[in-house]
Amino acid sequence: MNTEQQTPLEASRPLGVAQDLAATVLDAKIVYARKVVLTGELQTLSTPNGRSCLLTAIRLLSRVVGPLCVALPDGLPDLESEVRALGDAIWSQGDVQVCAYSEDCFVDAVAVLNVGNQAREDLPWTSINSNGWIARCTSTSTQIPGDCDQANPLGAMMAASAGVAEVFKRVYSVPAELYPLMDCEQLSLFTLDPDRVDVGPPLPEAVRLPSTLMLGAGAIGNALALLMSQLPLEGKVHVVDKQTYGPENFGTCCVLDEDSWLDVSKAENLADWLNEQSGGKLEATGEQAYIADLIDAGTLKPKQIDLVINGLDDNQARHDVQRLWPSLLVDGAINSFGAAVVTHRLDLPSWACMQCTFELPNKDALEKQAKATGLGADSLKGGTNRQISDADIDAAAPEIRDALRAGRLAGATLCSMLPGLLALKRMGVELDEGFRPSVPFVASAAAALVMAQVLRRLCWPETRFVHEFQIADLFKGFHTSLSLYRRAAMSCPCTQHRSLIMELASRRRA
Ligand SMILES: [Zn+2]
Repeated sequence: MNTEQQTPLEASRPLGVAQDLAATVLDAKIVYARKVVLTGELQTLSTPNGRSCLLTAIRLLSRVVGPLCVALPDGLPDLESEVRALGDAIWSQGDVQVCAYSEDCFVDAVAVLNVGNQAREDLPWTSINSNGWIARCTSTSTQIPGDCDQANPLGAMMAASAGVAEVFKRVYSVPAELYPLMDCEQLSLFTLDPDRVDVGPPLPEAVRLPSTLMLGAGAIGNALALLMSQLPLEGKVHVVDKQTYGPENFGTCCVLDEDSWLDVSKAENLADWLNEQSGGKLEATGEQAYIADLIDAGTLKPKQIDLVINGLDDNQARHDVQRLWPSLLVDGAINSFGAAVVTHRLDLPSWACMQCTFELPNKDALEKQAKATGLGADSLKGGTNRQISDADIDAAAPEIRDALRAGRLAGATLCSMLPGLLALKRMGVELDEGFRPSVPFVASAAAALVMAQVLRRLCWPETRFVHEFQIADLFKGFHTSLSLYRRAAMSCPCTQHRSLIMELASRRRA
């Protein structure tokens, strides 16, 4: 769906990231007037990986750039129909046009993303491709290898994420002295070791998921769903998220395309989408709820869930869901620049669980936010993606009450008001809750890391355990990756109540 004039809400989170990257152009009108070309080489696009790279790149680009021209070489009629159908169906900041490949396509392009391995110095050019578990990206004169024959959507999604990061740097004028273009960057999601780029084993024909809970249906959850629809997965997945979609999510969520999804449960929407896309192989259900409520009420019991996949920005929920003590819990996390995955395995008790890994936001942080925005502390508790109430206005500092009243009249959520309120108070502090700068391609990088960890454990249990892996700065490239091992805390329930937890787990297997 292409809407001619966008309210700035959809652009607010990507623009927030651009600001964090010290981008020099932060005017939505200028940014979304810049033309971007997505193209590819016949040989690469003829492979499943090339196809996945291209289609995923369209979904990611459509949310952060303006006019997008998809220039396809001759000889790919099926792919062309697929691209046209996708272009019509997806939400986009600007128009998505499909055209026949010619040099004329590149006139006035601010960025060109090529699915292939050629390097071109005469154009603002980036090449991406993938083979098996390896993702590759280059924007310099150095070519990346061209082999792409081992099909694996994980490598393809990671390659698309890096490629779109390169386009973002060009379109938003991110200074090259701070963020040089990527030079033949490669990462293997199987070895998770920047020094060992290995194509890894082929994926099995089918992977049966244990009874699975997916917590979070926002930016990471969307990318997880896209990836799950591309992987050969079977089984039951229960999606839980406490929120509904708002217009600001269009800029960050890669499968949120329809206005009909707005103000409806994120979890239910995403579960329906997953059922539709997986052709019945996945049985997804969705529920709008706080995870703590489901566990406390006994609606969700430890014996029902053996795999938890998190795509959250909420440490309290991370602590709560750990109480299910699944055999495997894989958590994806993002900030403006980087993506991380933390894995907890019940059979490896020395390594930290979610409760020892993530600190809960303390009262001080809440007070800092209240002071910075002028809102009352109570207004910021328990999430801000909701309508503005009388209580919010009464508790707010006098100088922001008019803005809140206007926002309420316009039907804005409290969350969407936060950037404006910060500007009003002329202060800029980190917010732990509420408004967060975010881009869909950092979320998709996190999703690729999460599903890689899930599949490594389920299909290759003997493979090296990596407790925490992060790409510290996707905009700089895969060489900013590192793995970390954090010991379980002696004071944490995972250590203190170890025997009780193992008893729970044995009942699950019985
Ligand atoms: Zn712990």
